[in-house]
Amino acid sequence: MGKHSDILIKKGFIATMDENRTIVPEGDVHIVDDRIVEIGENLKVPDPEYVVDAKHHLVMPGFVNSHTHLQQYFRGVYELMGDFFETNLPLEGYRQPGQMETLGLASCAEFIYGGSTTSMLIYTYPDGYAKAVDEAGNRCIVAGDVEHVSLEKLKHGVFEYLPEKKDAAVKRAKDLYHKWHGKADGKITTLMCPKAPDMTQPDVYLDMKAFADEHGLRVTTHLSQSQREYKQVKKLYGKTPPQHLYDLGIMDDKLTGAHLTYGTAKDFQLIKETGMGILHCHSVESPLIDWIDMGIPVGLGTDDYFHDMLDLIRKQRTGVQARASKAGGYLGMINASRASTRPDFYTMLELATIGGAKTLGVDSEVGSLEVSKKADVITFDLMNPYITPTRDPITSIFLYGTPGDIDNVIVDGRFLKKDKRMTTINLAEALVAAQGTCDEIIDKFFQEHPEQEKVWKAKANQ
Ligand SMILES: [Zn+2]
Repeated sequence: MGKHSDILIKKGFIATMDENRTIVPEGDVHIVDDRIVEIGENLKVPDPEYVVDAKHHLVMPGFVNSHTHLQQYFRGVYELMGDFFETNLPLEGYRQPGQMETLGLASCAEFIYGGSTTSMLIYTYPDGYAKAVDEAGNRCIVAGDVEHVSLEKLKHGVFEYLPEKKDAAVKRAKDLYHKWHGKADGKITTLMCPKAPDMTQPDVYLDMKAFADEHGLRVTTHLSQSQREYKQVKKLYGKTPPQHLYDLGIMDDKLTGAHLTYGTAKDFQLIKETGMGILHCHSVESPLIDWIDMGIPVGLGTDDYFHDMLDLIRKQRTGVQARASKAGGYLGMINASRASTRPDFYTMLELATIGGAKTLGVDSEVGSLEVSKKADVITFDLMNPYITPTRDPITSIFLYGTPGDIDNVIVDGRFLKKDKRMTTINLAEALVAAQGTCDEIIDKFFQEHPEQEKVWKAKANQ
C-alpha cells in the first residue's frame, strides 16, 4: 500500500464521476496513503511529497475494465486466421500454466499503460496471473473459468460434457479464492465464473453460486454470446440462456453477464427486475442504449487482443448509432422517438468507470474521485495538437486520445505510471519475455499443425 505517500495533483480539469458528475475545471486532488483526502480549488497542502502539475490535463478515476481475458499471445495470428475451431481453440491447448506469469506481466503492463486501474480478468490458469498482478500493483478481480466440454467434439457441433475436466476447473477456481482473495493489500480479489450456459452444466452454476454466497463473492458468466450457445441452451432446456439462469435461481444483483448479444425483450426485463448487471464488450449489435434507458447496470470490458478503453468507448458509441440507423433497431427495441440514439461521451465515461465498478460491486471503493475513496487516479496530457484546442476535453479525449496520452496512473495511492514511464514494471524486459513465451506457444502449435502455418504464411505474406 502507498503508506505515507502524500501526493497533490494541481490545477487539472477534474471529472470526478461522482453522482452528480461534478466537474472541477481547474482543481486539485490530495492523496494521503491509499486514499483521496480532499478535492477542490487551490487546496492548501503544506509540504506534499510529490506534486503533479496537472495544468492542461484531464484528471479522472482510473478505468474499470470489467471483462477481459489473457489472449494477447494470439495477436498477429488469430486476426489473420479467424477460425475459432481450427486455430483459436487448438492454440489454447498449447498454453502451459508456467507461462502465465510472463504473459500476465505484459497484460498488467497493458492495463496500467492504458489507465485501467481495475480490471476483471477471466482465465484458465489464474494462479500465475495473480502472481503477475501482485508484482505489477494494479487492482484486479480474477476468476478461473469453468468449462468442461470436449473441444475436439465441439468442432463437429457435438457437446460432450467431461466430468474430470469439470472437477479440475472447479478446483482451480476455488483454489484461486483460497490462495489469492484479498491479497496485495486487497488489490487482488476473486469471483466465480461458470464460462457459459452451453460450456458448463447447471450443477456447476449452482455449486459456484453456493460457494460465492458462502464467501461473499460475485458470479460472472458469458451469456447469450453466440448463436451456438443460444441453440444449445434452447435444445437442452427449451428456453433462452438468461431465462435458463433465472429459472436456476442464479440471476440476481450479484451476477453479471458478458455480451447479451442475442437477448430478447423478455430476457432484458428479467435482468432489470433481478438487478443483474451486463458487461458490454465489442459488439455493435447489442442494444446498449436500451439497457441504459432501462436502468440496467452496465460496465464496459475490452475482452479482446488489446485493451484500450478509449478505443472501446469510441467504437461502441459509433456502433450504437450504426445499429440504430437500421430500420426498427435491434429486435425492434430502439425507441424511434428518442432525441439521440447515441450515448454521449459522459455516459460512456460513466460506464467505463463508476458504472463498471457498480457491476463488479467495488463502487464503494473505486470508480469515482471522492473523498475517502481509494486513490485510483489517472491523468491525460491534453497538450497534443490533435486534442488542444478544444472546448470539451472529455469528448475530445474519447474521440482522438490514445493510451500514450495518459501520463500518470495512480493505484492505491502509488504511482504505477509516472510522467509516461512505468514504475513497477520494466516494460522492455516484460515485453521481450512475453514475446519469448508467445513464440514458444505458437512455434509449437505450427510445428504440430503445419497446415495452419501454411494458411498463416499465405495471409501474412511471409
Ligand atoms: Zn469474454
